[in-house]
Amino acid sequence: MRTSYSSLNNFKTCPLKYKYKEIDKIKGKQTAILAFGNLMHKTLRFIYTPTAHGFPTKEEAINFFGQNWKQEILIKEGEEKGYFEDGIKILSNYIDSKDDAERNQVIALEHHFNIKIGEHDLEGFIDRIDRTKEGFEIIDYKTSQKIPPEKEIENDLQLSIYLRAFINEWPSLFKEVKETDKIKLTLYFLRHDIKLSATRTKKDLKDIDEKITELINAVEEAKKNNKFDPFPSNLCGWCDYQEICPVWSHKFKPVSKELEEKEIQEISQKFISLRAKKKEIEGEIREVQEKINKYFTDTKLEQFFTDFGSILKSPRKTYSYNPIKIAEIIRQIGKDPISVMKVDSRALTGLKAGLEREQKKMIEEAKELEREGFVLVVKGDKKV
Ligand code: SF4
Repeated sequence: MRTSYSSLNNFKTCPLKYKYKEIDKIKGKQTAILAFGNLMHKTLRFIYTPTAHGFPTKEEAINFFGQNWKQEILIKEGEEKGYFEDGIKILSNYIDSKDDAERNQVIALEHHFNIKIGEHDLEGFIDRIDRTKEGFEIIDYKTSQKIPPEKEIENDLQLSIYLRAFINEWPSLFKEVKETDKIKLTLYFLRHDIKLSATRTKKDLKDIDEKITELINAVEEAKKNNKFDPFPSNLCGWCDYQEICPVWSHKFKPVSKELEEKEIQEISQKFISLRAKKKEIEGEIREVQEKINKYFTDTKLEQFFTDFGSILKSPRKTYSYNPIKIAEIIRQIGKDPISVMKVDSRALTGLKAGLEREQKKMIEEAKELEREGFVLVVKGDKKV
């Protein structure tokens, strides 16, 4: 299979989005967020590309951004008009904090790579690679507001792939530094002018092939079964296909008659306000529970009786399945390990139904105690 990390990532975040883009080849309507991100990347490439007179000045960069601003896309959507101002602000701050020495350390911009993962070809683009005092820095620009926790950067598969591509395409540069920890992998959050960096070990590099192969297998499985379910998330805001996606269709084209519309408005309002009340009550229950738990601890009682009923401290153990052991067992019994890595305990119960007794026993043995505690059981409660 010939694919790219961004296609696989589309599948991972939403299989339906993958289908629209990669299989149905539908050209999505570009959202303001996406258009903004693309133009920022383009402008950064411009900033780092020297001309006969040297690197572009701040004014030239801002002019470039302004001239390429696809006003008709962004304004027509009636949303996020502030993006233009945001872009100017980000670029001004960015250029102010850089000098020619910083720009001279760039060795590659928007570099296209192609690496072999088993029998598959994986391609992509690296935004920028710099030579640094310690070695090299591979940079991916981000225009998002949100900065993820550092743990996410450490596990970011895309950055690991970039490192693998760097080693593959520039073996002589890698030879200079020898160790992977001399190559910094950075996400550059432009809005905040913040860089978050991590490095990888040799073992991390080996894991990449396995992770990518798992993803490719999952795509092939979905193609075989023609099963591409939508997976709504915060990322829908970045999706080009909102207008045709069944999850969002009602927003763009209400389907019911006027009366039904009114009814659905009322029902929705009721549902939303009941959920808010539920949340509030759950908070109160938690507070009261804490007081009762303390009472149990202080008195060392196992059950106490009141005029309204009794409350019993009932022990509860929570178990979970060890995913590594489960994957191994499923491999042994000849099922597809990829789908198993994704199953929750409910799906696993379904899978167990078709297995031999001995096989079910093996799965049960992969269960591990996760938590031990107690729940409060109310008995003989009277209406208060
Ligand atoms: S809008 Fe959301 S659910 Fe629909 S295809 Fe896009 S990402 Fe998937």
